[in-house]
Amino acid sequence: MQVRIHRGTKEIGGNCIELSSSGKSILLDLGMPLTIANQDDARLPDIPGLKDGDNPDLLGIIISHPHQDHYGLIPKVHPAVPIYIGKAAHAILEASAYFSPFGLTLESVTHYHHLRKFNIGPFKITSYLNDHSAYDAYSLLIEADGKSLFYTGDFRTHGRKQGVFKQLLEGGPKNVDVLLMEGTNIGRDLNADKPVTEDELEKDIESVSKNTKGIVLSWFSGQNIDRFVTFYKAAKRTGRIMIVDLYIAHILDAIDNPSIPSPKKSDLRVFLPSRMRSKIIREKSFDLVSPYYDKRIYPEEIKDNASDYLMTFRPVMCTDLEKADCLSDASLIYSMWTGYLSQGKDDIRDWCKAHSINFEICHTSGHSDLLGMQQLAEALSPKLLVPIHSFKPELYDQYFSNVGQKEDGQWWEV
Ligand SMILES: [Zn+2]
Repeated sequence: MQVRIHRGTKEIGGNCIELSSSGKSILLDLGMPLTIANQDDARLPDIPGLKDGDNPDLLGIIISHPHQDHYGLIPKVHPAVPIYIGKAAHAILEASAYFSPFGLTLESVTHYHHLRKFNIGPFKITSYLNDHSAYDAYSLLIEADGKSLFYTGDFRTHGRKQGVFKQLLEGGPKNVDVLLMEGTNIGRDLNADKPVTEDELEKDIESVSKNTKGIVLSWFSGQNIDRFVTFYKAAKRTGRIMIVDLYIAHILDAIDNPSIPSPKKSDLRVFLPSRMRSKIIREKSFDLVSPYYDKRIYPEEIKDNASDYLMTFRPVMCTDLEKADCLSDASLIYSMWTGYLSQGKDDIRDWCKAHSINFEICHTSGHSDLLGMQQLAEALSPKLLVPIHSFKPELYDQYFSNVGQKEDGQWWEV
C-alpha cells in the first residue's frame, strides 16, 4: 500500500490522504485548508479524476467527520466520485445546507457505520466512532496488501463519548504498521491541567444560569451536538426551557437519535430569527418551518418570561433580541474557541457591554490532550507514527516512539 499525504503534515486543516493499492486509490478526507485567506482560491489536490470524474481507478473519498477542514473541498469534486460518510454526519451536512455555509448536498453517497467493516476495491476498512466536537466522527483502519494504516481523524477523550475511546484502547487494532495521528493540541499548553470535560462544563453553565436573573443566551456551533446536550442538561437542571433556532432544530431532527432531545417531541421551543424568516418567505421554503408550528416561540413570549429560558444565540439575532426587549439582567455564554472572538469585524463583547449583558466563556477543546494521544499510540503500538493535523509535527518525537515525519505530496510505502 502506498500513501501520499496531500495536505496536513504540517498544519491543522486541509487534511487529504491518498492511499494506493493494485493500481486503485482512495482518499481519506478532502478538507478545506484553514490557512488560506479566501476559500474560493482553494485548489483540489492534483489527483486524476477528482475534478472530471473520469478516473475509474479513483474508487472514492472517505470523509472522517463533518468538519470543514475534513470535507470542505468536496463541492469542487465531480459528483460522480463516490463519497463515504457516516449516516448522521451526512444528515447534518444536508440539514445545514439551507442555513449555513457549513452544509453540503452530496450525490453519490454510501454510509458507513461504527465497527462495521466494508470494502472499497482492494481496501478493507473498519470505522471506529470517535469522541469529538463533530457528531458522528470516526477513526479509520485501512488494510491492504497485508499492511494496516490507522487514521485517527479528529478525536478527544473528555467529551460525551469517552466510552468509545476506552473501547478503542481495549478492543481496537494492535501493532498497526502506520498510525496517522492528529495533534491539534501538540505544542499548545501541554502542561495545563486535564481538559475540562463536557460534564464539568455543564456544571459551569448551570452555575451561570443560576446566577442570571434574566435570559441566558448560549453561543456554540450548531453542529456541535455534544455541546447542545451540555446546554440542554444545564437548562433542565436550572428549570429553564431551551430555545433553539430553526437551524439547530433542523439538525437535531435530521440526526434522529432517540437519546438526543427532538425539536418536535421534547420541551424544546423553536425561534425563527428575522433574517432566516425573510429568506424563507423570499424562497417560499415554508415546509422548513411548518413541522415546528406548535413549538414556535415569538418575541413577546420571550420578553414576558425571559428568566424561564436558555436560548441559542448567533450575532445575526442581536436585532431580534433588542426588538424583543428581553435583555435586562441577561447573560451570554460563549462556547467556542476564544480565538474567533477577536477575528471578525465586530466583537460580541462590545454588544454585551452596550446592553449590560454578563459575558461568560464556557468551553472545552474538541481535541485530545497529550495523555489521550499517548494512550492511543501505546494501545495501537504502531511501527511508524506519522504526524498529521498539527502545527507542531516536529514536537511529536518528544512524546511518542517510532515517529516519522512526512512531507506533503510525497509518496511512501507502508
Ligand atoms: Zn474536527
